[in-house]
Amino acid sequence: MQFFKLYHNIEEYYDIKRRINKPKWTQRTTNFVNFFMSLFLKDISNELKNVCAIDMHVHTAYSHCCFDPIEKTLIEANKRGLSGICIMDHHTTEGYKKALEIKPMLIEKGYLKNDFIIIPGIEYSTKDGHVGGLFCEKDIYFKKYSAKETVDQIHQMGGMAICVHPYRKKTGIKDLSKELTFDGVEEEAGSIFKKKYAILNKQITKDFNSAKFGSSDAHFYSFLGSCYTVFPEGTKTLEDIKEAILNKKTIAKESQNIKIIRNILGN
Ligand SMILES: [Zn+2]
Ligand SMILES: [Zn+2]
Repeated sequence: MQFFKLYHNIEEYYDIKRRINKPKWTQRTTNFVNFFMSLFLKDISNELKNVCAIDMHVHTAYSHCCFDPIEKTLIEANKRGLSGICIMDHHTTEGYKKALEIKPMLIEKGYLKNDFIIIPGIEYSTKDGHVGGLFCEKDIYFKKYSAKETVDQIHQMGGMAICVHPYRKKTGIKDLSKELTFDGVEEEAGSIFKKKYAILNKQITKDFNSAKFGSSDAHFYSFLGSCYTVFPEGTKTLEDIKEAILNKKTIAKESQNIKIIRNILGN
């Protein structure tokens, strides 16, 4: 989709300024998508009440393919009743850093709850497909390494390797996901719109010996929380998050909205 490909070469892809200063028409188009989806999607805040629900894979304007201002992403995540989000932009943590910078201002203005959790993540494009990394400070260059080499590098830098949307048609690593050592896997993957692939994804990943995640992989704020992860009661800090993942204490959930999204976009 041309909309997502606003770059012509790898230098432009990696140009963060270019990512955040996108042409005006992209904002108008993204506003339209969010408006259109709002006609169908339900308020899920009741569903998320009383649990620590975190959307473990969210894109911000710091991804080349997401067009909502980062403030909007945070405000809307909070509005939906999420307790936090993991910012997993493509090959950068600049969006995560910006989110931390503006968090106090958003709390002060009442747009964000005091204890809203923001988790650092990166989505890496490997030779085999997409692989997620949590708590990773460094980039692993675009499509230079295999999924296995990427998982090893994530672990070497002290991060957690996440198997994102493994059975997504174009960018999932498919059956390779069974062979690698992941700390977490997207059992409920909101970016798999086609029902048959979503079912396959769930069937295969439910037997994985790693923490299970629900993630929207939202590129538009309207998709936030379509799938989410329930963390143990009392989860407050990044250390709590790490511990829950290591002890596999997470539960992957899909909200009623993912069914609506798949009916509209997936078939
Ligand atoms: Zn992806
Ligand atoms: Zn993604």
